[in-house]
Amino acid sequence: MREALEKARRLVVKVGTSTLTYGSGKLNLDRIEHLVRELADLAHSGRQVILVSSGAIVVGRTRLGIPRRPSSTPEKQAMAAVGQGILMQTYEKLFAEYGLNVAQVLLTKEDVTNGKRYENACNTFNMLLEYGVIPIVNENDTVATEEIEFGDNDTLSAYVAVLARADLLVLLSDIEGLYTADPRRDPAARLIPLVEGITPAIEELASGAGSDRGIGGMVTKIEAARIAGAAQIPLIIASGEKPGLIKSILAGEEIGTLFLPVRADQQEGK
Ligand code: GLU
Repeated sequence: MREALEKARRLVVKVGTSTLTYGSGKLNLDRIEHLVRELADLAHSGRQVILVSSGAIVVGRTRLGIPRRPSSTPEKQAMAAVGQGILMQTYEKLFAEYGLNVAQVLLTKEDVTNGKRYENACNTFNMLLEYGVIPIVNENDTVATEEIEFGDNDTLSAYVAVLARADLLVLLSDIEGLYTADPRRDPAARLIPLVEGITPAIEELASGAGSDRGIGGMVTKIEAARIAGAAQIPLIIASGEKPGLIKSILAGEEIGTLFLPVRADQQEGK
């Protein structure tokens, strides 16, 4: 299965807030530069890349000089509106250095569940990729209300992978994959390289929150694997801290945790 990843042509890569920013809330430019360079190289080699980028809320909050985490939806929405522009400006500048254009795609849950909007979003992705543009996706935080928001980009990225009919979804995180226990607390924790099915035992391993800057944790990553897997899309969780891992993943190297898609004969009702 790892070798089959080499054939993945259309990739969705999701990068989380804790990977993109420092504890200070400022952008980790070194990391972003490496990521952009790697994605640009993948695009140059003929792959189609969609980037799902978090970070808007934290980056906006830092620019506004607000020390505490937002507690209300309007606060988060205003911070995201400020931060999203800063993120896009950074990506635009860096991808342009490698001759690539970017496009901002902001989505809400309604867009990926409502027939007409879903179709429009699909068509836009297809057109952008045909133009050789790198779509950069985030949740449309300024209009997503609490009741309907994704809240975390893990789930959003899975919907994007389904919508764009991607061949592979890669979640770059501040953790190397799914472990047998929390590696931050338990030195005996081992990385699980392959998950063939999301069993209650796997769900149990995933319980617990992520870092203090990002919103998603392992639970939302498992949810993403479930959504992608049901659409026959494999998902890999890997560290976003080391440059070059996506290429190694595509070369079949055993990196991170690979969640296999649900086999057709295992799907409900079959
Ligand atoms: N849309 C949120 C942001 O850009 C996602 C936050 C997260 O997943 O960490 O800030």
